[in-house]
Amino acid sequence: MVSGSDEHGTPIEVEAIRLGVSAKELADRNHAKLLELLQKWGISFDNFTRTESPTHKRFVKEHLTKIYNNGYIFTQKTEMLYCEKCKRYLPDRFVEGKCPYCGYERARGDQCEACGRLLETTLLLEPYCVICKGKPVVKETEHWYFDLPKFSDQINAYLEKNKQLSANARNFSLNLIKEGLKPRAVTRDVEWGIPAPFPGAEGKTIYVWVEAVLGYVSATIEYFKDHGNPQAWKDYWFDKKARTLYFIGKDNIPFHTIILPALLLASHEEYNLPWNVAATEFLQFKGEKASKSQKIGIWMHEALELLPADYWRYFLMATRPETKDSNFSWRIFIEKTNADLNDTFGNFIHRTLTFIDTQFNSEIPEIQSLDSDSQAILKSLEEKVETVAEQLENCELQSAITTVMGIARTGNQYLNEKEPWKLIKTDKTKAANILRVAAQYVKALAIVSAPFIPLSAQEIWKTLNLPGSVHEQEWNEALRRLPRNHKIGKPKPLFRKIDSDEKELEEKLQNVRRILAVAS
Ligand SMILES: [Zn+2]
Ligand SMILES: [Zn+2]
Repeated sequence: MVSGSDEHGTPIEVEAIRLGVSAKELADRNHAKLLELLQKWGISFDNFTRTESPTHKRFVKEHLTKIYNNGYIFTQKTEMLYCEKCKRYLPDRFVEGKCPYCGYERARGDQCEACGRLLETTLLLEPYCVICKGKPVVKETEHWYFDLPKFSDQINAYLEKNKQLSANARNFSLNLIKEGLKPRAVTRDVEWGIPAPFPGAEGKTIYVWVEAVLGYVSATIEYFKDHGNPQAWKDYWFDKKARTLYFIGKDNIPFHTIILPALLLASHEEYNLPWNVAATEFLQFKGEKASKSQKIGIWMHEALELLPADYWRYFLMATRPETKDSNFSWRIFIEKTNADLNDTFGNFIHRTLTFIDTQFNSEIPEIQSLDSDSQAILKSLEEKVETVAEQLENCELQSAITTVMGIARTGNQYLNEKEPWKLIKTDKTKAANILRVAAQYVKALAIVSAPFIPLSAQEIWKTLNLPGSVHEQEWNEALRRLPRNHKIGKPKPLFRKIDSDEKELEEKLQNVRRILAVAS
């Protein structure tokens, strides 16, 4: 599992100029922050690298040189906005102006935030340089272009054939091809980025859209180089039995279904093309599109000041927008946390382990044979664990977490129906049977919930007093019997109910935001 910081866009360069630091310094700072957040959120990559990594830069230069030598890159004169005062061309975020479609006054050079349309800088009405606010002139420049239309047929065939691609990714991409692909600029007149390796392109850098997606390959190369096995990356990218999967938002679809495949094909090497691109729709924030500039949303570092990562992770997976946009509201967040995470999942595990702790002297009861009810309920567990695995394989993560929650719900119902707290006084063997089964459910829940709520899953594993980390276990461990005469640790509640209402939570968020703003 690899990814990294995509660092060479104009937003970083513009922000760095504004802050009076170098782009590299700002990128270093952002990457360090991101690594810290990933760790705090329990997100574990095998290699979370960055596009500033020397391995990435080298790979991009070599790969683009191959594509150039294969004849897929040509030059063309074009017109760009230029600021004579700053002595620089003004691509993308370097320029703002009036949107030609909706009239919004502060539309950015690449996109209008108000109407969402993609723009070219030269389309802006009344453009101005974002650094000096001066009026730019139109100036001719030369750029290198990738001949994307040459790959239309091959990409079309690839999309037609790959039925497992998410429906939105597939249909959107097929449509783009039908409308006709256009050549795309590979170079930029900016300083921040990877120097273009083409003859005559001195002073130009590679346009970020070309190199960022190649980072999937370079991150794999870097991983195996760092692990003393520098050829093993090829198993993932060339062995036809290997499959690569991508998890993205829908705004990123064409980069993964058209551009990355075309860049790989253009090398004339037999790269594996993306096998599945799981593209989600958008998560809205209280009915609105999230926006950094308008502070619509909750930021990763703010969220952790309110509640531990697993609360958010559960909500995000349970409402993952797989087929249509979903929505965050405090009300839904409180409901999901309290009803699912606390009352169903947490409560089932806590009651089971507390009962074993107090009634069976912390030892998971041993039994002679399972009664038929217990056998049936274990059979149902087996089926559900298998279902979660299938759903994960199909990238149906929302369905998978729903099935996991269903396991906890069945466990809870089983306890409610059997009432072992009554049976323990009259028929200890029967009570033991029930708690044995419930304990197996708890163990299975630790394993199957581990991808979703990793910190809590490890807590369960620890309380079950099982060796190692839950994250090192194989899937089948979920159904293996707990060891004989096994003692568990002292159970603690995994979650707590949110007792604040919507208004109070919003106030807490605003407080956190104020405190963090002062601290930084
Ligand atoms: Zn607009
Ligand atoms: Zn300027």
